[in-house]
Amino acid sequence: SSKIRIGIAGYGNLGRGVQAAIAKNSDMELVGVYSRRDPSGLQLATDAPRFHVDELAAHTNDIDVLILCGGSRSDLPEQGPKYAALFNTVDSFDTHARIPEYFETVDAPAKAAGKTALISAGWDPGMFSINRVYGEALLPDGETYTFWGRGLSQGHSDAIRRVPGVAAGVQYTIPSTEAIEKVRAGLRPTLSTREKHQRECYVVLEEGADAEAVREAIVTMEHYFDQYDTTVNFIDAQTLAAEHSDMPHGGFVIRSGNTSDEQKQVIEYSLALGSNPEFTSSVLVAYARAVHRMNQAGVTGAQTVFDVAPGLLSQKSAAQLRAEML
Ligand code: NAP
Repeated sequence: SSKIRIGIAGYGNLGRGVQAAIAKNSDMELVGVYSRRDPSGLQLATDAPRFHVDELAAHTNDIDVLILCGGSRSDLPEQGPKYAALFNTVDSFDTHARIPEYFETVDAPAKAAGKTALISAGWDPGMFSINRVYGEALLPDGETYTFWGRGLSQGHSDAIRRVPGVAAGVQYTIPSTEAIEKVRAGLRPTLSTREKHQRECYVVLEEGADAEAVREAIVTMEHYFDQYDTTVNFIDAQTLAAEHSDMPHGGFVIRSGNTSDEQKQVIEYSLALGSNPEFTSSVLVAYARAVHRMNQAGVTGAQTVFDVAPGLLSQKSAAQLRAEML
């Protein structure tokens, strides 16, 4: 049978990651990279047809699933509804508080066009969300805990770079080992924000900047750092480039509960990611396979990871899965 034809809309970290992931899935082919920038200027990881996004409307018959790789803050709120009217889509919209309204804005155009639009895939939202639901459904008398890290937080790194006197910097979120051990022991602790995570910053100062003033401005920053124990390390630009250029991330979803007064149960899902965007992209590509199948089966409109059966993600048939994986 023929391959699933994938288009990439937006060529940043996720766009590059999707390109890498398609190369690892033999049932898929990349038919086009679409960008708002001049496509001839893109540094593509491998040869692939490249187009301006304005050409998408003329390519509706060439693409089975368009993977939306834009940012959640301003790209996806515009691109999600627009492209769901033309293509089956998958995106990684991760502004948790706005997911319900984003779902509605994508659902209407997708339904009207008979398309399937999978929103908010990735790892959080995404695989972590699924594991929160499994945990709660299987152990209704219990508590769910999500810990993030050790990982680079893009939002917090952006925040420290806005502090006067900071030339460059990154921020890592560190989950508290002590808190995780309590949760794993089934103690069902009540944990404050400060007890769950620490924050670690690596900062390159501008010429003549006052290190103590910069440190104080960072650790007291409202919402971002004031509720955490934060350490600030000053390093030079070479060290930053050599040791802090990767985008590792990950974390844990742990459900601990009681099935009777006597019996505790603990479920844990963990991720240790060398590259947050490459892993996220890999998840998006698996969901593109599911979206293609769901659309062929007549399921249309906006969908989330909760609506997708696990077998639909696999390259294997249902019969093969029953024989090999059950
Ligand atoms: P990014 O690299 O900033 O790319 C976002 C968009 O910016 C691209 O689609 C691209 O669009 C444009 N762009 C990229 N590089 C550019 C450059 N050098 N100059 C000008 N424009 C450029 O963002 P990302 O790391 O791929 O992440 C995208 C989103 O994924 C994030 O906003 C986040 O919300 C989401 N995410 C979700 C999860 C999850 O678990 N659900 C995990 C990680 C990330 P054009 O090609 O059209 O210009």
